Amino acid sequence: MITETMYWMGRDSKYRAWWTEEIQENGHETIRRVNLLLDKFLAANPSDTEEEYGVASGWRPAAVNQATPGAASKSKHISAQACDIKDPEGALDDWCLEHHEVLEEIGLWQESPTATKGWCHVQIVPPRSGRRVFLP
Ligand SMILES: [Zn+2]
Repeated sequence: MITETMYWMGRDSKYRAWWTEEIQENGHETIRRVNLLLDKFLAANPSDTEEEYGVASGWRPAAVNQATPGAASKSKHISAQACDIKDPEGALDDWCLEHHEVLEEIGLWQESPTATKGWCHVQIVPPRSGRRVFLP
């Protein structure tokens, strides 16, 4: 389970002016879908403990995103429509690759694991290509 506190990373108070109603609604939906994904993943992989799959990067206001090495300039993290889930061994990334139907059912798109070593990036809106698994 990821929580609101984990997702906003304290930026809801530090960047309050950017934490608009729209951002909050997007974030709620992102958190809801990430938790649906983690539920399915952990049910299928009971030996994995939920503590391993926290938030590596949640909402990133534009100023934070710009200062993040490697972050895409139009990253969905800016609009709170994306989440990086901690995935040190790549187990979640691998499982998602093998279960597109789960991503489809929940409404998530995954960044290709080749670009996300150590975390799993999912977003609640499709990339321009429309591909379920996409390159940044
Ligand atoms: Zn990301």
